[in-house]
Amino acid sequence: MKILLATRNRHKTREFAHLLGPQFQVTDLTDERDLPGIVETGGTFEENAAIKAVAVSRVRPKEIVVADDSGLEVDALSGAPGICSARFAGEDATDRDNVEKLFRELERLRQPKRSARFRCIIVIARGGKILEAVSGEVRGLIADLPRGENGFGYDPVFVAAGFTETFAELPTEVKNRISHRARAVEKLRELLGS
Ligand code: IMP
Repeated sequence: MKILLATRNRHKTREFAHLLGPQFQVTDLTDERDLPGIVETGGTFEENAAIKAVAVSRVRPKEIVVADDSGLEVDALSGAPGICSARFAGEDATDRDNVEKLFRELERLRQPKRSARFRCIIVIARGGKILEAVSGEVRGLIADLPRGENGFGYDPVFVAAGFTETFAELPTEVKNRISHRARAVEKLRELLGS
């Protein structure tokens, strides 16, 4: 089955292709030059995933378009960085800038709770219409210091419930079994009948 992933992020495409398995042929927008820029104006992961899926499936109406939106929600920060996860420390922020900002925000609080979760929402669209939406989450804690080299984003500071290692210390196969994205993609596979 062919799927068009509404992203230009090759890292994400590889992760999806790996999680979906060989029966899916996953392409993305990397080589698409004639698509309009998509502005994520939604206030939730659900809205932003839907905006991306619908916008792309309007211009590629025959394709099954899949879009995801994901991020980290920290309880002591009322769910921040949330939909701003990628640009928490500013528009051109690096992963390291974002992690440093996260620690600064937690340090401002006295004895903050360190509970957090990663969430991932996936929306499937065809012909400009939403067909389905699925979600996945993984709960855990924010570590005291960044640890590990694997992964990306907030992986060095997130310790999933039941583990002592951060996501960046776990082998990729382990993260890919328990992550928010893995859980959402599992539901996507069921929906697509594979
Ligand atoms: P998006 O879904 O591409 O918009 O990603 C949003 C941001 O959330 C990423 O840039 C990361 O900062 C963060 N994020 C989402 N998923 C993960 C993950 O699996 N590990 C670490 N950070 C993540």
